[in-house]
Amino acid sequence: MTMHQDQTIQPEIEKFGRQIFDLIKAYGGEHRWPAGNNFYARLMDWAMRDPVFKTQMFRFVDVLPTLTTSDDVVKHMVEYLSDVKSAASSALRTALTVARLFPLIPAHLIRRNVRSMANIFICGDSGESALPNLQRLWSEGARFTVDILGEAVVSDSEADGFAAKYIDLLKLLTDATRSWKPEGRLAAGEPPLVNLSVKISALSARIQATDPCSSVERILRHLERIVDRAFQMGAAINLDMEHYALKGLTLELFKVLTKRFEPEVSQRLGFVVQAYLRDSYSDTEEMLRWARREGRQVTIRLVKGAYWDFEKVVATQKTWKIPVFLSKPETDANYERISRLLLENRSVVYPAFASHNVRTISHAAVYAKRLGLEPGAYEFQMLYGMATPIRRAFVKLGYRVREYCPIGELLPGMSYLVRRLLENTSNEGFLRATFSDKQSAASLLVDPASQLSTHQAVESTHPAQPAAKLRSPRRETQTCFINEPPADFTLASERSSMERALTAVRGKLGLAYPLVLGGEEIFGAEQLVSVNPARPKQVIGRVAVGTPKDVAKAVAAARKAFLPWSDTSVAWRTDLLDRLADQMHAARHELSAWEVFEVGKTWSEADADVVEAIDFCRYYADQMRRIGNGHPTQNLPGEVSIESYIARGVAAIIAPWNFPLAILCGMTTAALVTGNTVVIKPAEQSSVIGAIFMKLLREAGFPDGVANLLSGTGESVGSLLVAHPDVDLVAFTGSREVGTLIWAMAAVTHRDQINLKKVICEMGGKNAVIIDEDADLDEAVLGIIHSAFAYQGQKCSALSRLITVGDVGRRLIPRLTDAVAALKIGLPEQPDTNIGPVIDQTAFDKVQRYVELGKREHHLACQYDVPKELEGYYIAPTIFTEVEPRSSLAQEEIFGPVLAVLATQDLSTSLEIANDTAFALTGGIYSRSLKNIARIRRDFRVGNLYINRPITGAIVGRHPFGGFKMSGGGTKAGGRDYLLNFLFPRVVTENTLRHGFAPETETLGARIA
Ligand SMILES: Cc1cc2nc3c(=O)[nH]c(=O)nc-3n(C[C@H](O)[C@H](O)[C@H](O)COP(=O)(O)OP(=O)(O)OC[C@H]3O[C@@H](n4cnc5c(N)ncnc54)[C@H](O)[C@@H]3O)c2cc1C
Repeated sequence: MTMHQDQTIQPEIEKFGRQIFDLIKAYGGEHRWPAGNNFYARLMDWAMRDPVFKTQMFRFVDVLPTLTTSDDVVKHMVEYLSDVKSAASSALRTALTVARLFPLIPAHLIRRNVRSMANIFICGDSGESALPNLQRLWSEGARFTVDILGEAVVSDSEADGFAAKYIDLLKLLTDATRSWKPEGRLAAGEPPLVNLSVKISALSARIQATDPCSSVERILRHLERIVDRAFQMGAAINLDMEHYALKGLTLELFKVLTKRFEPEVSQRLGFVVQAYLRDSYSDTEEMLRWARREGRQVTIRLVKGAYWDFEKVVATQKTWKIPVFLSKPETDANYERISRLLLENRSVVYPAFASHNVRTISHAAVYAKRLGLEPGAYEFQMLYGMATPIRRAFVKLGYRVREYCPIGELLPGMSYLVRRLLENTSNEGFLRATFSDKQSAASLLVDPASQLSTHQAVESTHPAQPAAKLRSPRRETQTCFINEPPADFTLASERSSMERALTAVRGKLGLAYPLVLGGEEIFGAEQLVSVNPARPKQVIGRVAVGTPKDVAKAVAAARKAFLPWSDTSVAWRTDLLDRLADQMHAARHELSAWEVFEVGKTWSEADADVVEAIDFCRYYADQMRRIGNGHPTQNLPGEVSIESYIARGVAAIIAPWNFPLAILCGMTTAALVTGNTVVIKPAEQSSVIGAIFMKLLREAGFPDGVANLLSGTGESVGSLLVAHPDVDLVAFTGSREVGTLIWAMAAVTHRDQINLKKVICEMGGKNAVIIDEDADLDEAVLGIIHSAFAYQGQKCSALSRLITVGDVGRRLIPRLTDAVAALKIGLPEQPDTNIGPVIDQTAFDKVQRYVELGKREHHLACQYDVPKELEGYYIAPTIFTEVEPRSSLAQEEIFGPVLAVLATQDLSTSLEIANDTAFALTGGIYSRSLKNIARIRRDFRVGNLYINRPITGAIVGRHPFGGFKMSGGGTKAGGRDYLLNFLFPRVVTENTLRHGFAPETETLGARIA
């Protein structure tokens, strides 16, 4: 196979490319384009000149279809565009003034213009209305592939609807094109005229990275039927490629699907390769090998990729390696390498080069000619409305060109429209360079490989390494905090490693765990039996229960260790935290597996908890390095004042079961790194994880007595510990009931007590999300489900009150309840489970009581059945509507998968209701009104407010977490100030003036340490 570009080809590409440019000119392509749509042309012009206008305008276009009244249209237009200061501003000012005065006129005009703009890129709002355009394409010598635009699929019924639409469309197109007969020299090898492009995300509501096998099966249920019908009608099907998380699954699906049909027809099945992906070359090689092995010919559409910004953002947020190339020439050069690979393997692949870049497609045409391939042996593809003059040029030269024709209504098609607008105005895009920036032909036809740096050239010829993998343990050179990446379960290696961990942990169930007091392991007389909430007969472990004597012993051990420990250096303590993080990193899947069994977390939820625990260690280590050595207060001559911190003493750590490792680890490491010693009391329900954490602490090197494990119940050892006069600090996370009790107990001062007890107290929430009238419901539905039902709603941050504004509930609730039906209730150890059990019988009974109350007092919108074979503490996600703001369901913390929906007329009432509880932890809004978002930012009084995203899943360092009112004392775990709660501040002031001589202040800096 030819790997590198033969340099002698460049002159030929330039010659061919110039010919194309001449033809483009002949087809009117030198004018501002597309001609005949003034509104679009002006919009693009402004957008290219002003990035602020571009963002605001595209956001406005995005929300427009959901706006029902003219007032709404004008209100949003004013909000989005009135602050724009650009070339557009004078025209805009006039438009906005008119709009305010006469809303009907501009609203009507805007809708009409945006609709006509959408018509440039969307072929029709239905199959029927698209037919004349398809017919026109055909008469101009081009072919088509049709795609159905749609809302995100969030329920099985929506997936069914999509599948039915595809099948109807197949029939319509087959009937309509029966008389179309290809002619000329391309006719011989003509692929089917009817060609559908299918997005797999439209065919299942539940595509789960953790379980590609059952995702593939679910998608196949629809896809096989579509392909069957397509083949009966002689049509072809292409699987579009979406975001990176779906890549492996799409390729796997393609293989499985292809094998279900005879080899003769498999060329009618195609998939897409995105050249912007670093691993696309090796993927293509692998797929070609597979096709050869299977004796099949397949169709491959080669594109650069449509989700470049998205992939970069997602990977950056998750601290994964970015899967796309970061410079445009790398993508272009990779596209050309893959083009050559496809053409060289023509015997097993029918290549479709999808691009509007004249250089990119000229390269493919010229290279094909060199290989002796006729123009009919491959094809070019372009997007409908994006490159008409280029399409015409290639048709004129006798090439087969297919246009990708989206069909759909304006509302579902809006995100497609916005993507096209962005593409046309992208700084690095070929279309902008050609039609707007008017770059020279020579610069547009330059070889992208010649623009690569040496490093990029090497990288792009060896791009086969997996794009995302776990970050290796912290290195010495790493100076600032970076979040631990969550596991990427789209990678087979991650999934099998999690499976292995589950097997390993299964083999360790039922062991006994001791108390650890002053380094001594005590198995004791009494044991606490921890069971799997999904199968209560399965014992996870037996943990020794502390007695009142053990409480005294634990506190004494911690007290004895305190002074030596608090005297150790900051460097030593922070290193120990890093070591602990490294250990957890190494054992992370096994730790997740323990959570799956002991507390009923699904794979992703368990992984998130372990990741957070690792983050806490590294983050608090970093923070302690920042504050641990104190700082000068003011820079004055003749005096040095240093503010520094000392540890408080013995800390009691009383942790909950719902984040059994993260919260336990966070509170413990914060106490330890600041120089306190600790007595740890994990929750009864997660006491095995508590014991495993203790083992990790010891292995990391925390000395005997510095950390002590005192398992047992809250009522016995917990309260004795809090009341103990020698405990200086209590770090508690849990219920309001226990939290307020601890607060009161800690206020009692004993005669021989050294310090006033400090309580760091984080409690629950009754968290609300407001859904505004203009919310993006695709995002809102998924966000609500995750916030309310992930980990069965057993997070203090979980959503329990959904507040709808105006008419939005009518559109939202049916989609929401259908989407809930698609969730799988099952064993958490199974990778495709969404909903596991609640933690124990007590929780089950309590949640059940609220469900019964809800049924009596409100309207039950949905509660699906729990599969009969499940014997654990399962409660299906339940949604009640018509809930009154002051009802128990709307005021009391349920801590389970129960969601109360409250309808309101306007945002002000929503806000009033949202704030009207005893709690103030998390909250959120889905809205596209800038004014409403600004109001919510100011007036929704909670500790963590989230806008247009789920309200759970705070990330250490990024979203310091904690609330006020009855949600907590105002401390922020994972935030910059958190460690100060574990410390006493002190200031040492020294007069440095000696008989009128004051040393330079800088020389005294050394005293700080
Ligand atoms: C018929 C057809 C079908 C398509 N189907 C799919 C599909 O299934 N899945 C899909 O993802 N896309 C698909 N696309 C969209 C396609 O990916 C975009 O239209 C394409 O990216 C534009 O590329 P170009 O060669 O026309 O333009 P160019 O302007 O040459 O390239 C633009 C592309 O370069 C890449 N890029 C931009 N900036 C950078 C940078 N700084 N570093 C690295 N790379 C960069 C991006 O991929 C960007 O889209 C399809 C396109 C066509 C024509």
